[in-house]
Amino acid sequence: MSCEKGLNLRIIFADIINAMLVIEVNLMGELMNCPECNQLFVKTNLRDVCESCYKIESKEFDVVYNFIRKRENRTATIPEIVNATEVDEQKIMKWIRNGKLRVADYPNLGYPCEKCGSLIKKGTICEDCSVNLKRDIFKEEAERERIKELRKRDKATYLFEGKK
Ligand SMILES: [Zn+2]
Ligand SMILES: [Zn+2]
Repeated sequence: MSCEKGLNLRIIFADIINAMLVIEVNLMGELMNCPECNQLFVKTNLRDVCESCYKIESKEFDVVYNFIRKRENRTATIPEIVNATEVDEQKIMKWIRNGKLRVADYPNLGYPCEKCGSLIKKGTICEDCSVNLKRDIFKEEAERERIKELRKRDKATYLFEGKK
């Protein structure tokens, strides 16, 4: 009897812990595997890697930041920064993409356009691709309108002939 009670208590206790974890995860972000080391962690708006990887990343960020801050490195390219700092290219691009690394004053820094791969500093695609995309959408809409218009005319002809 007492043994059963202990078991029940343990189950209740485990349920409470689980519920608390769920509440914590809901409040702070989602539970996922760290993209760097695969360890489980809670993802938030501020942190997309686990605690230990975040610490490593912060140090790497400082190294990169201190490197590009120097006047003579203002025109450095990403491969040059990777060479000098030994920090992963993907990480540097991530910081530029999420705005952590501000590169408005750096002519050779950016991340690839999702369509053509040329370097950009904001958004997901470059100016050229954006213009092309808008033109394509416009063309598609014009074509759709044309087909609609043709169908309407067909219908009108059909009705007209039907009345005869
Ligand atoms: Zn990690
Ligand atoms: Zn592009």
